[in-house]
Amino acid sequence: MLRVGVTGGIGSGKSTVARRLAELGAVVIDADQVAREIMDPGEPVLDEVRQRFGDGVLRPDGALDRARLAAIVFTDPEALAALDAITGPAIARRVAQRRSAVPAGLVSVFDMPLLVERGLWVREHVSIAVETELETRVRRLVEQRGLDEQDARNRVTAQASDAQRRAACDVVLPNDGTPEELAAAVDVLWRDRLAPWNDNLVHGRASRRPDRGAVVAPRRDWGQRGGRFVAKLAHALRDISAVTEVEHIGSTSVPELPAKDVLDIQVGIRDLRAADEPPFAAAMLEAGLLRFPDLTADSPHPPGSDPTGWGKRVYGSTDPATIAHVHVRETGSAGWRFALLFRDWLIHQPAERLAYAAEKSRLLAVDDTTSTYTEAKEPWFADAHPRAEAWAARTSWTPR
Ligand code: ADP
Repeated sequence: MLRVGVTGGIGSGKSTVARRLAELGAVVIDADQVAREIMDPGEPVLDEVRQRFGDGVLRPDGALDRARLAAIVFTDPEALAALDAITGPAIARRVAQRRSAVPAGLVSVFDMPLLVERGLWVREHVSIAVETELETRVRRLVEQRGLDEQDARNRVTAQASDAQRRAACDVVLPNDGTPEELAAAVDVLWRDRLAPWNDNLVHGRASRRPDRGAVVAPRRDWGQRGGRFVAKLAHALRDISAVTEVEHIGSTSVPELPAKDVLDIQVGIRDLRAADEPPFAAAMLEAGLLRFPDLTADSPHPPGSDPTGWGKRVYGSTDPATIAHVHVRETGSAGWRFALLFRDWLIHQPAERLAYAAEKSRLLAVDDTTSTYTEAKEPWFADAHPRAEAWAARTSWTPR
């Protein structure tokens, strides 16, 4: 089951996107609706709210007087925090319940205005931000939802900015055009990414690196994509106590370095045997990652040296739009250290970065088959290793 988050400022068209996804076959959970449901008469949360804010927040028939409660919390940040502390966990529990009831083969969509503000995007495989010009949103809220203009404006400006949402979301859907244009964009996203991704999850297929892959000019979003991948994976592995850290490594983690469009991620684990235990594989699967069982070690550096400390496990992404390789290595091992050292050294040594980039293009011109290319880079690494180590000693570098 693919988990998709949909968010956007009020009036951006987020619910419209969620509705279209439902028409395409997804099961949508609407956070606003859940927030209302948990305050229905007879719900324990309603009683907690009454105890905290007094009988005055209930109408004579025992239902919540929403306007009354809103008037109390919107002028008093402490009261708002108290209300959030009561409702937040209850909403989270209800959403989790609903999600676990979604049939395994279907796409599960979480329509949540505060997906980014609450940090909930880390639980989704992919998050979509719907972006619409502020004035358009105000106009739609006034004309189509009957809000007072000042009220609409206040609500729109109280939320996270588009920039904050953009940083956390994997997909941005602009909605300044017609509803038909929005629906068409959702359909393309569904056809090209969400549906095949869900299929990959259902059938246990990882997206393999193409046999021949071009080295491309450095992309500006590699850093952010890597950061999101790391945050989501760290969240998925939060209960695996042997995991020490998750980091973006490899060429796409070095700004300004041409590279294949592949995210390399490293998981440090205290003992590689913990990576072979079922809870680890289960957490990786939860994150949408599948193991490549034939890859169990790196070739040691320098070549021919002791192979101890170069063992690893490798996982791949199921997202058809992302080639990602997750290397699970023992914290403190030679291979683990090497990955972090090369990244930091290339980030801090522009001349070495340029030299490495030149070597990459030279090798690709000779033979661009992935395995040959990877092997052909080895002599360069062997040669560079002492320079990287000398840099580490000079700068007192230590792996984070
Ligand atoms: P949100 O859930 O983000 O608050 P909605 O999906 O409810 O936003 O959209 C806000 C209002 O704008 C709704 O009345 C919706 O029908 C309308 N709307 C959404 N997209 C468009 C569009 N592209 N053109 C015109 N109206 C739109």
